[in-house]
Amino acid sequence: MDKSQLSEALLAWHDQNARDLPWRGERDPYRIWVSEIMLQQTRAETVKGYYAAFLREFPTVEALAAADEERVLKRWEGLGYYARARNLQRAARLVAARPDGFPRTVKEIRALPGIGEYTAGAIASIAFGLPEPAIDGNQVRALARLFGIRSCVTRPEVKRELQAVARSILPSDRPGDFNQALMGLGAMICVPAAPDCAACPVRAFCDAFARGDAGDLPVLPEKAAKRTERRSVVMVLKEGKVFARRRPENGLLGGLWEFPNFENAKTDAEIRACLREIGIEAARGKRSIEAEHVFTHLIWRMNGYFYRAVACAPELEGRFVDAAALRELPFPTALQPFRQAALEALS
Ligand code: SF4
Repeated sequence: MDKSQLSEALLAWHDQNARDLPWRGERDPYRIWVSEIMLQQTRAETVKGYYAAFLREFPTVEALAAADEERVLKRWEGLGYYARARNLQRAARLVAARPDGFPRTVKEIRALPGIGEYTAGAIASIAFGLPEPAIDGNQVRALARLFGIRSCVTRPEVKRELQAVARSILPSDRPGDFNQALMGLGAMICVPAAPDCAACPVRAFCDAFARGDAGDLPVLPEKAAKRTERRSVVMVLKEGKVFARRRPENGLLGGLWEFPNFENAKTDAEIRACLREIGIEAARGKRSIEAEHVFTHLIWRMNGYFYRAVACAPELEGRFVDAAALRELPFPTALQPFRQAALEALS
């Protein structure tokens, strides 16, 4: 295979067909970084609106560093994987404290919280023009097919092989554009189930096309089955307010707000006992609702109940909030149906 011809063909295609995305053509490392973090596990169409709103509120790394964490989480509300937002802000504080500005080597960029090999490569190549690969899921698929890599792509030695082949086709004059071109190929043409090989600009170089097994590649590990968890979500009302609390910093949905929720579908007596443990004496209210939320490895089947607070301990880990304050709290998507129900109950 003539690798320079492959690179030229792909770049020529990219120049004609690049998707019109708000971060396209961006060279500012902070803005590229925000887009790359948002794009992890999330489709570009979804990210577009969040990206604009986030940068309006936090236009520079200094603005993000100085912001209240709750504002950052609020801006991230609905995007999921909230550790990304918290890490982004932690890293922004480190960058803002550097006398020489944004780090300019892959090693230094990679050392920031929440930045893995892919994101470091993307920032280094797109913002600073460094010849570094940036291998995301789209690139993995395209590279495995182009180079006929038929072993499981999560194995360490196969990851190294992907890095090596990506580096071997990376042109030194336009590494950022090339990385984006390869990602675009994977996103638009070399798609998972049925790649559009007829429209592919690098078909002539593709091993999987020649062998006719593109649909079988890349080889992925078997997916673990999702675990289902039942939860009881409790909205405790008191004098036109509802009780909400902040989730622990670490772990699932860390730092976001929630209504108290407990494992399993609980009886009235069990729920009252759980509430007593957090300092609230309550009586069962009228309505209840149900909702389901699917995380990456987990499904929550939730039953929601209204309770009326009868007495509360003087110190609670959480607070009673009115409708306006409830709207402002960063809440996980999983609990949005319950927030909506609480807002209706408060109106
Ligand atoms: Fe992917 Fe088909 Fe192009 Fe090969 S020829 S890179 S399988 S779209």
